[in-house]
Amino acid sequence: MNSSIARIQVKQSLLLKNAINVPRRCMAAKTEDIGTHTGQKWQSDDYRLARFMNAPKQVNKNWAVKLIAKVPPKQVADRIVWCDGGSGAEGHPRVYINLDKPGDHSCGYCGLRFIKKDSH
Ligand SMILES: [Zn+2]
Repeated sequence: MNSSIARIQVKQSLLLKNAINVPRRCMAAKTEDIGTHTGQKWQSDDYRLARFMNAPKQVNKNWAVKLIAKVPPKQVADRIVWCDGGSGAEGHPRVYINLDKPGDHSCGYCGLRFIKKDSH
């Protein structure tokens, strides 16, 4: 009889201990947030970081803006070029780009850049 009461008391104390420790652990865990390509970054004590306590936040380091900037501008002889981003499902609606003004001109959909050969 005494042993069963003692077991119950131990279970109760463990439950209380865990009930007290869980919120404290959540509130005390401060992790540094990783910024996304949109600039979203939470402060270290933000409650929304609780979702990353068991698994780290995964952010793609290969941002599309940086990748497309590595592609050199395509030199063309015409005043007007069109871009459809590639073929089939990889592409986008065809847009025409005027190259009369100096410098390179980028496609609004995919970011590919075009430059007129004699413009510089
Ligand atoms: Zn394009």
